[in-house]
Amino acid sequence: MNYEELLDSAYENVEVTEESERFEILKVKGHHEGIRTIVSNFTQVAACARRTPVHLMKYLSKELASQCEINRDRLILSRKLSSQVINDKIEKYVQRYVICTKCGKPDTELDDEGQRLFVRCLACGEKHEVHKI
Ligand SMILES: [Zn+2]
Repeated sequence: MNYEELLDSAYENVEVTEESERFEILKVKGHHEGIRTIVSNFTQVAACARRTPVHLMKYLSKELASQCEINRDRLILSRKLSSQVINDKIEKYVQRYVICTKCGKPDTELDDEGQRLFVRCLACGEKHEVHKI
């Protein structure tokens, strides 16, 4: 292996490392009680996204067309839904309300300015408007 090939392979290794460090949201632990769906680790999932359970709940309620309530650490949905469907929506929430559109890092916070809502990145300073739920 010559020096350039060595650099190439080193670079590839760096890329692989970055890929594996991509932000992963905690998966929900869900089960059904009658026609309802209970997510037992909901506050942990919200904490993983660094968002309030209430904000995440409002999003899910709208996206899943389901009434929701929070009971201690649990989210109770009025419909029977698979964990997969809920995880997909949470993934979308993270892309929209957590991940910085510029640097791709999850180190952001929501900036509520009354009528308007922004995602502000603590890593690179990027700020962009998002739909207020
Ligand atoms: Zn950023």
